[in-house]
Amino acid sequence: MSVDVLSRLQDLTGDPYSYARAWKGRTGGKVMGFYCHYAPEEIIHAAGALPVRITGENRVISDSGAHLQSYCCSLARTGLDMALGGDLDVLDGTVFVHTCDTMQRLSDIWRLDAGFDAHFDVVLPGRMEGDSSREYLYQELGSFRDRTGEYLGPVDDEALKRSIGIHNRNRVLLEEMYRLRRQDPGVLPSDEVLMVVAASAIMDKEEHNALLEELLGTLETRLSGGGPPPQSSLCKGEEKEEKIRLFGIGSVMDQWEFLRMVEDAGGTIVDDDFCTGHRCAGAVAPEGPDPIESITARIWDGALCPCKHAMSRDRAGYLLERITGSGAKGVLFFQFKFCEPHAFDYPHVKKALDEHGIPSLHLEIEQGSVSIPRLRTRVEALLETMRGA
Ligand code: SF4
Repeated sequence: MSVDVLSRLQDLTGDPYSYARAWKGRTGGKVMGFYCHYAPEEIIHAAGALPVRITGENRVISDSGAHLQSYCCSLARTGLDMALGGDLDVLDGTVFVHTCDTMQRLSDIWRLDAGFDAHFDVVLPGRMEGDSSREYLYQELGSFRDRTGEYLGPVDDEALKRSIGIHNRNRVLLEEMYRLRRQDPGVLPSDEVLMVVAASAIMDKEEHNALLEELLGTLETRLSGGGPPPQSSLCKGEEKEEKIRLFGIGSVMDQWEFLRMVEDAGGTIVDDDFCTGHRCAGAVAPEGPDPIESITARIWDGALCPCKHAMSRDRAGYLLERITGSGAKGVLFFQFKFCEPHAFDYPHVKKALDEHGIPSLHLEIEQGSVSIPRLRTRVEALLETMRGA
């Protein structure tokens, strides 16, 4: 049965906006795009809209070339190209969260040129520590609730609490999938783990929760020795030797072919810090009387990406803990070309890995134009070194 779940999610992520079109046709509700995992999806959902994540796609740039410099990341350039070309016409509006410089400028260009009905910015604090920053975040989320309410319809506390419960459930289930995978990476290949997370950002969360529950039930059966082996595209041909556990670091990871290549080469990304991966799992909003306070706590205490700063939260130390906890023996950095936050992050994290004797490889990627065989040679060389160590 979970094979059906995986095929369904695979179809969905292969054509991410057709689900939103069908949902819109069925419910008559509004569809709101967003780019970043910090977006308060609970508020959009509580207003009766469908939040849908935009992650760009493999395409040759045309219209967006006149608006964005070629040294912006391909996530921004291909996303804008899709918007200008009408490929995102299912969206009624878009929510931009204050993260990197590219996203901030993209938000302005999008507002002026993409032609959607509605446009919202959620200006998160750059520095995620200190009482005044936290209070500011609380106020900004409250303001977002009021502003979206004017367009989507008012969001009352009860609706918001219900949405928080649904989204919390989703994060708990995703976390459980990651836990099972750390226990035995053979239970589900890494591309399918990331695909399951990606599906949660483009479909109704309650529907995704139901599919995830079914999938987790099958994974647990497999782990306890029952049920057939995984039927993924990856596992055809079955591995002969144990794969080397790796940890992935990067921003958006929706290019399954990179992950398949790592698996084919004899490694497996057992855990990750991708913004379309494990950063979407785990951190739940503590349920309490004030739902805006709950969402504030979730964002404040959740995983931070390199776009945010907190002197009291050492990112390298945090990643080292996650890497060792996952049993990973090496790290792959998937660095989007022209992504400044992750590029600034890299030397600090790399130094910490070197000091702890953890081998790593830096791979530059972008949507549409990366040679998999060239990357594979480098990954194979790393794995070879690790096997010989
Ligand atoms: S964080 Fe990096 S990959 Fe993400 S939008 Fe900004 S520049 Fe692009």
